Amino acid sequence: MTSNAKTSHSPKISFAALDDSPEAVLVLFADKDGLAPATSAALGAEGFTRIAAALAAESFKGKAGQALVLPAETVFGGTPRHVIIIGVAQEDDKTPRDALKLGGQVFTRLPKGRDASILALLPGLALPTGEAAEMALGLKLAAYRFDQYQTRKKPEDGENKPIHITLHVENPAAVKKDMKAREAVYEGVVLARDLVNEPANVLTPSEFARRAEALEKLGVEIEVLDEKALKKLGMRALLGVGQGSAEESRVVIMRWQGGKDEKEAPLAFIGKGVVFDTGGISIKPAGGMEDMKGDMAGAAAVVGLMHTLASRKAKVNVLGAIGLVENMPDGKAQRPGDIVTSMSGQTIEIINTDAEGRLVLADVLWHVKQAYNPKFMVNLATLTGAIVVALGNHHAGLFSNNDALAQNLTKAGQESGEWLWRMPLGPLYDKDIDSKFADVKNSGGRNAGAITAAQFLQRFVDGCPWAHLDIAGTAMGSPQTEINKSWASGFGVRLLDRLVAGYEG
Ligand code: MN
Ligand code: ZN
Repeated sequence: MTSNAKTSHSPKISFAALDDSPEAVLVLFADKDGLAPATSAALGAEGFTRIAAALAAESFKGKAGQALVLPAETVFGGTPRHVIIIGVAQEDDKTPRDALKLGGQVFTRLPKGRDASILALLPGLALPTGEAAEMALGLKLAAYRFDQYQTRKKPEDGENKPIHITLHVENPAAVKKDMKAREAVYEGVVLARDLVNEPANVLTPSEFARRAEALEKLGVEIEVLDEKALKKLGMRALLGVGQGSAEESRVVIMRWQGGKDEKEAPLAFIGKGVVFDTGGISIKPAGGMEDMKGDMAGAAAVVGLMHTLASRKAKVNVLGAIGLVENMPDGKAQRPGDIVTSMSGQTIEIINTDAEGRLVLADVLWHVKQAYNPKFMVNLATLTGAIVVALGNHHAGLFSNNDALAQNLTKAGQESGEWLWRMPLGPLYDKDIDSKFADVKNSGGRNAGAITAAQFLQRFVDGCPWAHLDIAGTAMGSPQTEINKSWASGFGVRLLDRLVAGYEG
């Protein structure tokens, strides 16, 4: 689809039985007691003994993340094999083994441009089918790169050669079946990463809307609202943010009707899509401003999620809505002190034009609640620098008016490794955004900045069960993990795919 297979460098992955003839590059797993005994049957006694001897000679302890490379070792069958042994010792019995991360670690250790065989036998057990598919997903996500604009860079030897990885597992047919849903997740994450990495001169609001429209091919119903339609709806808070830009604003509504009953209320996901945020008249300092091309990561996650859900034909009704604007300083730009009337009828005093994401979300949240009355609304936004100060790059901030929804999200975060940390809401914080001149002001100042931003959004959800995910620290910039070597992480797609799975009938 819109994900660019040419630049994502995805390896081709297939699954085969344990005793199939492996490639010349061979990956094995070991802990402090060495290889899994079952490896002997797959490798042959000669190869097993030679590798065991090498592990002993290097006193390899098999700690997680540790690796031992035996280059061009003649191991068995008379064929020279490049053997890589990855450590998988558990720190304790309680930490579940993370097959996704392990897949990422394996990919980073593979020699570039060479096909490889992974013998998926871990000490103690063969990988269960679900975990083997997770490992394959980890391999693919770790391979992602966004480099289509680097036209003069000479790729390192074999770097751009598509490789073929065979995962040798106990039950290839079952893993293959499991992999179908993971492929859908992979495509969704890559689509989100591509959108976040894309520069703002390419990804304007209307171009973003066109890329969302491509989901129609998967059976997603798309409605694109242009400025005329947005004016008619009364989305003046959103339009106020975009009015200083030469680019027209857009809102896109995406509907996946996978539930048994098409009238059943949908689950709703709403994304902030500020394609570039200069701060407007309250202009940002120059240092690092280029990162503000990623201020649409919430909208990107929603589009990626809808792609995943439609590809794997999720059995539930889901609605995605994204607000797409560019925040620029201009003769027509909105000013601090301006008062705008939101779609809800509440008036908003603009204190700081750089607190624009909440203005966009206020109207989209209100519209989704009134027009579709969803079961719940979850919005994602790179909303505040304050959340990065509080939580860094390891957790996204979670704010909610509903404990059950907050618990389901937290659990989906733990299962996916896209962690959330719940932050407080309350009437004392809410008071901080009362305005002298209007019903509400768009900034409560520096203190508790992430919380007062959430309080602002809460005033526009009209009592609907709702959660706000502040992903400013997790969606872009520094979250370089085992499964992400790119600037954009695609944060939120895997998390919300898990959440939705819990609501499928
Ligand atoms: Mn801003
Ligand atoms: Zn912003």
